[in-house]
Amino acid sequence: MGDGKYSRPPKRKPGLTLIRVVVAGAYGRMGREVLKTVWQAEDMVLVGAVDVRGEGQDVGPLWGAPEVGVTLQGELDKVLAETRPDVMVDFTTPDVVAENIKTALHHGVRPVVGTTGMSSRELEEIRALAGELKLGCVIAPNFAIGAVLMIRFAAEAARYLPHVEIIELHHDQKLDAPSGTAIKTAEVVAAARGDFRQGLPTEVEKIPGARGGSFDGGIRIHSVRLPGLVAHQEVIFGGLGQTLSIRHDSISRESFMPGVLLAIRRVMHLEGVVYGLENLLFE
Ligand code: NAP
Repeated sequence: MGDGKYSRPPKRKPGLTLIRVVVAGAYGRMGREVLKTVWQAEDMVLVGAVDVRGEGQDVGPLWGAPEVGVTLQGELDKVLAETRPDVMVDFTTPDVVAENIKTALHHGVRPVVGTTGMSSRELEEIRALAGELKLGCVIAPNFAIGAVLMIRFAAEAARYLPHVEIIELHHDQKLDAPSGTAIKTAEVVAAARGDFRQGLPTEVEKIPGARGGSFDGGIRIHSVRLPGLVAHQEVIFGGLGQTLSIRHDSISRESFMPGVLLAIRRVMHLEGVVYGLENLLFE
């Protein structure tokens, strides 16, 4: 890299309206991938990058390009005021994401959010604020189309095979457990199988946590954290004399980028919060 391929923005058709984008969490693993993707998108322009790390650095070298003239800054509020973007993409951390979304909305900027680990109370506050301000906001615990399909297929399978356990596997720097995708899967499975309870009430854990976390109706969620992994999940269904496994693997962070681009384009025409990429894909 660094050969110019990623250093120039793409050629743009004259008259094309460009979506102005700021990336929060730009120094992080996902943030860097988003910077590169937005930089290369012909209908977008990268106007700002925010992170608590790397302040003052040009962002180009973060994805292996030469300098591109956009520098990392520490204060979201200031960057939004100075650059007046249309969209803020957030891949930060669970402790700051809700505040970032509210700051963006107050600046009239539409958030596209991949950060997981927000509480349901925070989500409700954001729904209310986006509705009141009549601004679009997309929050998706997983931007990979394959993961969205995995959840959809799991809901279908749960109607016939209601005994389910979920194993999610991620890199060892992930802050929240279980993953947002695992929680979403459990919610969808619980809704699809209705009033059903699984598990053996008399079982004993010899090591606390051995059976994983327990979701509604006794759905167990197991979180694996190891270097070398990106984002993976297996949903295992058990029935009489058979099992069914539905598995998705994000092999690289590029897997999330088509979903992020779709959300940036669509959020411009939305009002209020859309939670989950499936609501943009399968309307
Ligand atoms: P990461 O490498 O830790 O990146 C997060 C970045 O945000 C870090 O550089 C962090 O700095 C920075 N940050 C912290 N506070 C900030 C603030 N106030 N303003 C701006 N930046 C701030 O994590 P990651 O692997 O990229 O993942 C980021 C999030 O995306 C996680 O919640 C992860 O679960 C989620 N994720 C979602 C999807 C999806 O499809 N929706 C896919 C993959 C990951 P410090 O390290 O100094 O705190």
